[in-house]
Amino acid sequence: MMSLMSTRLQGRILTSRGFVTGAVSFGRTIEDIEAGDAPGRYILPGFIDVHVHGGNGGDTMDGERGVETMARFHGSHGTTSMLPTTVTAPWSNVMSALRGVAEVRSRGVEGGADVLGAHLEGPFISPKRLGAQAPQTILPSASLLEEALALNVVRLTTVAPELEGMDAAARKLSRAGVRVSFGHTVGAYEDAVRVAAAVREEGGTVSGTHLFNAMSGLMGRAPGVLGALLADEAAFAELIFDLHHVYSGAFLAARAAKRGRLLLITDAIRAAGLPDGESELGGQKVFVKNGRATLVDGTLAGSVLTLDVALRNAVKVGVPIEEASRMLSGTPAELLGLSDRGRIEVGLRADFVVLDEALRVLEVYVGGERIA
Ligand SMILES: [Zn+2]
Repeated sequence: MMSLMSTRLQGRILTSRGFVTGAVSFGRTIEDIEAGDAPGRYILPGFIDVHVHGGNGGDTMDGERGVETMARFHGSHGTTSMLPTTVTAPWSNVMSALRGVAEVRSRGVEGGADVLGAHLEGPFISPKRLGAQAPQTILPSASLLEEALALNVVRLTTVAPELEGMDAAARKLSRAGVRVSFGHTVGAYEDAVRVAAAVREEGGTVSGTHLFNAMSGLMGRAPGVLGALLADEAAFAELIFDLHHVYSGAFLAARAAKRGRLLLITDAIRAAGLPDGESELGGQKVFVKNGRATLVDGTLAGSVLTLDVALRNAVKVGVPIEEASRMLSGTPAELLGLSDRGRIEVGLRADFVVLDEALRVLEVYVGGERIA
């Protein structure tokens, strides 16, 4: 590896103990944080997106080129680590997408976000709650899971807990270190509680996939998977905060219930960053207009969100910037068990987003290298 000259950035630095006005010095890792006079710009930890399908025309399902394109596009919006996310498709297509992610992860993306591994979203989901996923769901057999796990690239999997065989599948995934996230589900409260217990018996971690979307609502006598995720203090939960998928009041309710375990994701598709018009997700035609991506029947089909916009949206509805930043960096790092990133602290990776007073991205650094 080429050694980097030490770089020094001045501004309002968001450290684990709150904002420090001064300078941060770094090579590949953070070397020093010193207090002093500094201009008003913000220096936040780089964003970590655990659920992102595509951007700027590229999609995880396209293979290596698609993953590189999305890593560069989202990198320019402040995402410094990502899990390219697959969609429900014939199994051989899912496997080749996973191989593409593994390939890009091993060589890295010049000028883009760090690819950590993959989020396997589907095909182990409910055919009754597809959202914009294609109707090619299958049950989580041991042989399919072994085939995917052999690549050692899947870090997070979205599953419907009510599916037959899910207890055993959740154990297998958890033993391999894969996070188990409930989503695209019509499961009962008890299904989620039972599978979460199986996950934890194996030392695993539970999360929820795009909370409120593609799952039943919380009713007093039918709390469903949503109720289980909100009630479970140790469970994490993702949320798409583009102001189209989730109403701001529901976001604030989830924030209050999850207390530090809510993370913001994009769920962005290849249309993110492109002009309004026709696009594609998982082989289905998508129409993008005014920031909304939908199938022909009006079903929301992923988003065109970037995480800098999610940050501004959270702040706009009253979340302090320190807390909003945690939803984009510290919390996803915790979900994935990453201790080398997600915070600004001496010794951690030099992954930063520099923003102006209006929280617009000015500069982005991945492992100390400026990418935007
Ligand atoms: Zn998705």
